[in-house]
Amino acid sequence: MTTDALMNTYGDRAATLIKGEGAWLWDANGNKYLDALSGIAVCGLGHSHPAVASAVAEQAASLTHCSNFFAIPNQEKLADKLREISGMTNVFFGNSGAEANEAAIKIARLYGHQQGISLPTILVMDNAFHGRTLATLTASGSRKVQAGFEPLVRGFARGPYNDIAALQTIGDNNPDICAVFVEPIQGEGGIRIAAENYLQQLRELCDQRGWLLMLDEVQTGNGRTGKYFCYQHSGILPDVVTTSKGLGNGVPIGACLAAGKAYKLMRPGNHGSTFGGNPLSCAAALASVTTIVDSGLDTRATELGDRIMAGFKQALADCGHVKEIRGMGCMIGIELNRPCKSLFKTAMDAGLIINVTADSVIRLLPPMIMSDCEADQLVAILAPLIKDFEQD
Ligand SMILES: *Cc1c(COP(=O)(O)O)cnc(C)c1O
Repeated sequence: MTTDALMNTYGDRAATLIKGEGAWLWDANGNKYLDALSGIAVCGLGHSHPAVASAVAEQAASLTHCSNFFAIPNQEKLADKLREISGMTNVFFGNSGAEANEAAIKIARLYGHQQGISLPTILVMDNAFHGRTLATLTASGSRKVQAGFEPLVRGFARGPYNDIAALQTIGDNNPDICAVFVEPIQGEGGIRIAAENYLQQLRELCDQRGWLLMLDEVQTGNGRTGKYFCYQHSGILPDVVTTSKGLGNGVPIGACLAAGKAYKLMRPGNHGSTFGGNPLSCAAALASVTTIVDSGLDTRATELGDRIMAGFKQALADCGHVKEIRGMGCMIGIELNRPCKSLFKTAMDAGLIINVTADSVIRLLPPMIMSDCEADQLVAILAPLIKDFEQD
């Protein structure tokens, strides 16, 4: 960092990136990097995608912003499109994942009060990540994001991930619970994938108890796991689903979709956002979503992810410090038996951008437009670095 005028919330920054194209990034010194992070699951279509770039340029030149006092055709088109893709009923647009989740939390509270519960409580999971606002950091299951920001927000209960019986017991003992909020795959938490029938069991549990089933698909949505939304692998429909990261391919936008018991809970005056759903972000998202769907990038995500995982499984078969290689589509985790944060820098030096989360899990979120050849390059660069990795 060259200036101290920025709050130091991100620590030391890595290289200064100035240009991107497809799965490649360039820094200010002319170095080139293969991108296996996509700006943390944001640029699923890669960098400078022509459909998104031209949609943004055209919209910026006609009307960037007008306020939600007025009808916004792109917002309506995007809502229709997301409804058609998801099977959900209606949507609220914000600007980020945390805001999409705040909308979900507010819907759960309206629902709870409607049921006559005076302290509506949302059941959230150990190891979860839902964002950095006060309510979403409270919902998150990591002391790291909460420490120093007490008092936390009331109205949350916590249970173990991927354990239906435990949630039943918690529900038996807490009549205030009115919703469950869960990530289909815990992303920040280390690419932890729930059992195959987990969402079906959650759906059943919520139906039995009259709870809303709310899914945080901020990271898993937008094609990345092989379906547009990850819940579509399970054949269930949640009452609320949120998404953001990959929705605008880099232009900030978040969405909270509702169906079933959550449909129509929000009334005029209940919620709002100055920028949410503005013409520019909706133009970007409309172009992104249309491209993902029309090019079958969700199917491609599965093919690409399977190729990458097979490559690592083969290359790291006899590597004692690799505990597990797991993933779904273009959301892949390689868990080591030791902390490995320094691998980020080692990979950068080798021309590759990765991420390490939950201390010891290498997280790969490559763009869904990555070619087979680039996928093989990713394995060829990273596998030897993992093999040679001793400790942080
Ligand atoms: C990134 C993320 C968030 C927070 O999104 P922001 O846009 O940073 O507010 C919430 N939930 C999940 C699952 C995420 O991966």
